[in-house]
Amino acid sequence: MEKNLLIVGAHCGDGELQAGAIANKYAKAGYHVTFLHLTAGEKGNPPGMSVEEYRKQKIEESEACAKVLGADSMTLDYRDAELTFSDEIITRIAKCFRKLKPALVITHWVNSMHPDHALCPRLVNHAWLKAALPGFDLDGLPPHGMKGYLHSENWEDMEGYVPDIFIDVSDEFNTYLEALSKYWFIMHSKDFRYYDYYKALGTIRGCRIKKQYAQTLKYPAGGNVRVGQEIPGLSL
Ligand SMILES: [Zn+2]
Repeated sequence: MEKNLLIVGAHCGDGELQAGAIANKYAKAGYHVTFLHLTAGEKGNPPGMSVEEYRKQKIEESEACAKVLGADSMTLDYRDAELTFSDEIITRIAKCFRKLKPALVITHWVNSMHPDHALCPRLVNHAWLKAALPGFDLDGLPPHGMKGYLHSENWEDMEGYVPDIFIDVSDEFNTYLEALSKYWFIMHSKDFRYYDYYKALGTIRGCRIKKQYAQTLKYPAGGNVRVGQEIPGLSL
């Protein structure tokens, strides 16, 4: 399996907030890490700035943020808060999977107060199948199967989100915070204290595993299946 990790978010900034420190950890270990944003998230435009101007700014911010994390950034041209569940979008994402060849995808949890976020894992799930099946001819790109996908933690997607995996990101957290500072909305939004929340979240998740900082992941429903000859942690 190739060492590629893909993080798919609904809006520029989502994937970085949710899994930016994990991304940095894997980039440092030699993985090619890419953030794929389905929209720029341009409708949270600051006072005095047009939606189009903010779209351009957010794409620039996403590239600066990814650079700090040692990753690449790609933004598709769908419109913020207008994502639909369509074969056209699934096919676009499936082509990205075939081109980028991720071993695994990280994306939003399935329940969210934001409809774009809730759609994202459904689109990823369908694109996973479409990218893998050789019967789909997608611009002649070779089929690509991956291990699957995991969900990451976002303040808007917390209904039913109980983390399964805690990743120790103590050594990456300062880089993560520096990367987040590239986004205007994370540092200056009046709607939500993004920076404070995610710094605190990394802290409490770290406390849970007796480390300084952690970020969490969750298996898809029904996917947390462990294979073994004994009860984990209880030797026979
Ligand atoms: Zn979002």
